[in-house]
Amino acid sequence: MTVKSIDKQYVLNTYNRFDLHLVEGKGSVVKDENGKEYIDLTTGIGVTAFGIADEKWIEAVTSQLTTLQHVSNLYYTTPCAMLAKAICEKTEMSKVFFSNSGAEANECAIKVARKYAQDKGYDRYNILTLNNSFHGRTLATLSATGQAHYHELFNPLPSGFVHADANDIDSVIKVAKENNVCAIMIECVQGEGGVIRLDTDFVKAIYSYAIDNDILFMVDEVQTGNGRTGELYAYMHYGIKPDVFTTAKGLGGGLPIGACVVGQKAQNTLGFGDHGSTYGGNPVACAGALSVFERLDEKLLTEVKAKSEYVFSELSECEGVESVSGMGLMIGIKTKKPVSDVIKECMKNGVLCLSAKDKLRLLPALNIDFEMLKKALEVIKSACE
Ligand SMILES: *Cc1c(COP(=O)(O)O)cnc(C)c1O
Repeated sequence: MTVKSIDKQYVLNTYNRFDLHLVEGKGSVVKDENGKEYIDLTTGIGVTAFGIADEKWIEAVTSQLTTLQHVSNLYYTTPCAMLAKAICEKTEMSKVFFSNSGAEANECAIKVARKYAQDKGYDRYNILTLNNSFHGRTLATLSATGQAHYHELFNPLPSGFVHADANDIDSVIKVAKENNVCAIMIECVQGEGGVIRLDTDFVKAIYSYAIDNDILFMVDEVQTGNGRTGELYAYMHYGIKPDVFTTAKGLGGGLPIGACVVGQKAQNTLGFGDHGSTYGGNPVACAGALSVFERLDEKLLTEVKAKSEYVFSELSECEGVESVSGMGLMIGIKTKKPVSDVIKECMKNGVLCLSAKDKLRLLPALNIDFEMLKKALEVIKSACE
């Protein structure tokens, strides 16, 4: 039996996988079982920020792995403390709760929001999220996700989530007023929703509304975070500072980690026993994440911005492309051909791409070199035409 057929038989069929069995890689190149190479513009859905088998990450992870792989949150460990310190110092936030995924990071943020309102004596528990958002696959984060097609088969979902329209200030304020909301949660660029960047005026307006009304302003940076958009976190493009942000994907460099990062206002909302995780803050995952986070400096962010401009300008001029959206190296491409055909054609010609709704989505490694990016864009452009 081939790996493909074993997988089909024994793994729950929740993913309609591409017909591709990957076995190894280095940097932005991955190889399949037949030795064919592909330029990887997917990074495991925005995870391997510095590519496959990144040397610094391997060193950080293996040295921790052979020293102390796990002890639980009942004890202090160095990587957990040092990663939390690094994140707080860079963002001027106050405290971090570590989990194992983006959805879990959002679960923590939801608990912070509910308890914050309760501590204040407010009669508020609803969390406002935007239509077309994506916040995860656990039941609560599914409820938070503003896309009905994710909900339909799993009712009843947890209550306490309300949705308003993105880029429509009046809609957000109306829904907030009618529902006694305790928090507003947004993605600055709606990733799974089609790589759609929220308008600056909109984000600033709902931010002010939230701050004025002591509603927690929370940003889901699971996909947009950790340098992906050309700033350390995407909210930094908007000149705002959230009360809470969550992140995951690119932070771990390939090991599972999530972080719920809390600012001054809600730093003491969760206390002893209010939340927990067996694996959260695991030393190996944290050591790897620290080696990623420490390298997200100005030089790298400047490179991300330069590569982004290059991709935008190359693709905007392409015959087969209707429009290009996104920020940094989180890029959505509305193609004239059906996106699934474009992805197949690219794969045939040695380039791996993602989709998001009806768009082609690119999430290359932040350190992909220009030559390789150029080569991949040639393949994409000819697949689009
Ligand atoms: C991927 C994603 C999540 C869910 O992250 P998991 O690690 O898969 O649980 C949540 N929010 C956003 C914006 C995402 O892109």
